[in-house]
Amino acid sequence: MADYAKIKQELEGIAVEDNPALVRQKSRDFYWYSPILKEELDSVTGDLVVSPTTEEEVIRTLKVAFAHGVPVTPRGAGTGNYGQAMPLSGGIVLNLINMNKVKEIHPGRVICEPGIIIAELDRQTKAHSGQELRFHPSTAQTATIGGFIAGGSGGVGSIHWGGLRDLGNILRLRVVTMEAEPRVLELTAWDLQKVSHAYGTNGIITEVEMPLAPAYDWVDVLVGYDDFMDAVRFADTLAHKNGLLLKEIAPIAAPIPYDYFPRHKPFIRHRGQSIVVVMIAPHAIDAFTALTERMKGEILFRSDKVESMKGIPHAYELGWNHTTLRALKVDPSFTYLQVQYPSPDHVAKVGKMVEIFGDEVPGHLEFIKFDGNIQCAGLPLVRYTTKERLEEIIKIHEDHGCPIFNPHRYTLEEGGMKQTDEVQLAFKKETDPKGLLNPGKMIAWENPDFDFKAGKNYLFPGLQSFA
Ligand code: FAD
Repeated sequence: MADYAKIKQELEGIAVEDNPALVRQKSRDFYWYSPILKEELDSVTGDLVVSPTTEEEVIRTLKVAFAHGVPVTPRGAGTGNYGQAMPLSGGIVLNLINMNKVKEIHPGRVICEPGIIIAELDRQTKAHSGQELRFHPSTAQTATIGGFIAGGSGGVGSIHWGGLRDLGNILRLRVVTMEAEPRVLELTAWDLQKVSHAYGTNGIITEVEMPLAPAYDWVDVLVGYDDFMDAVRFADTLAHKNGLLLKEIAPIAAPIPYDYFPRHKPFIRHRGQSIVVVMIAPHAIDAFTALTERMKGEILFRSDKVESMKGIPHAYELGWNHTTLRALKVDPSFTYLQVQYPSPDHVAKVGKMVEIFGDEVPGHLEFIKFDGNIQCAGLPLVRYTTKERLEEIIKIHEDHGCPIFNPHRYTLEEGGMKQTDEVQLAFKKETDPKGLLNPGKMIAWENPDFDFKAGKNYLFPGLQSFA
């Protein structure tokens, strides 16, 4: 057992919390979305929460932790869904939320600290020069930019810009290593993949440089259809219209909108109505309306037409994993999956899954740009019964050419988002030789016989194959 009293002493001057109830609180994320992770991770807790305010304090903390052989698990706002920020082996939870300064804003880019809340970052870049992040998770109001880079993948805006996996969507990261004498590395281009979506297993991000896009007063629109597949076809047509500037296109199957979106329910005609959640630039609204009429969609809601938006959430807080959150609030027996429907026959693949599962797996899609093509990612709800049935549902998807990024696993590899390979592992050996950063999350580190070539499909490909 590490000598935490001594560690506390050595960290004098840096904010440290050792009250077990508060430490436990900061050792959680949204792992409970998964009934499987809930069971596996419920008892996980750290020993100390350390909250640095500068890079120098991060370096000091890592130096002390290294000397004592104590694990360090970084944390932004703890909104990750797969137990990413949970300290499986106890130790220090490195709470980065107080490193929240914006340092520089330039045309097309911003430099800031990792702990800033994403919506606050957007607020500052918009006020400075009418710019905003290219895309953000639906948790923008609560999540940090550092946590997004280390634990997220894409979100609102990915229909135009793709995701964090795409070259150019992160410009530069400053990263502190976990060594006797921590070093500061500056990563750009291909090297960024060593740290993005790596759950903080190979360095603490202390500064980020992100690209910006012009900011708009996006209009939220809900379009209604009585048949979910009509909604999906409309979304697909919309996504392919080159001239329409859109930030979000998400078809959501009945009865989800009527049953679980209470603030929007007054705008939805009946329980059988599926919707497409859209965010569109104000100058594109006339063309969008014309297309919607032609495709027999019914505009149910426009944020620029309602008397007041008071109490009505942003449209993007109906999409991405907020769809799951809203359903879970009403019916805790729900869980979800993350599905890829590869183009060009993504619509047909969705149709097949709807036909097979019906209301057991109510549909929710997010249209995105993926390797230059339009396709859809799915975050369908699942009416959970047993682990075995969940595995069966996953297998049926995969057998029909719809890969699953499994949100019921806490390791990088099993989740299927991030491929580890020899390059990634070599980087970890160099930056974290004792394996103290977020231990238990990278199988390749824990198991020297890990087969890198297991032939799985990964969202963030390994560094060797990356091109
Ligand atoms: P945390 O959960 O605190 O951390 C995430 C990971 O990053 C952890 O492994 C942590 O150890 C590591 N980490 C944190 N800070 C650092 C750092 N400075 N250096 C190194 N490692 C670090 N995700 C999406 O991608 N898109 C979405 O649209 C989306 N929607 C969501 C909706 C809901 C309702 C919920 C609950 C989650 C959603 N998520 C989504 C997941 C999550 O909210 C985002 O990925 C979010 O950006 C994570 O930020 P965070 O600050 O909460 O990170």
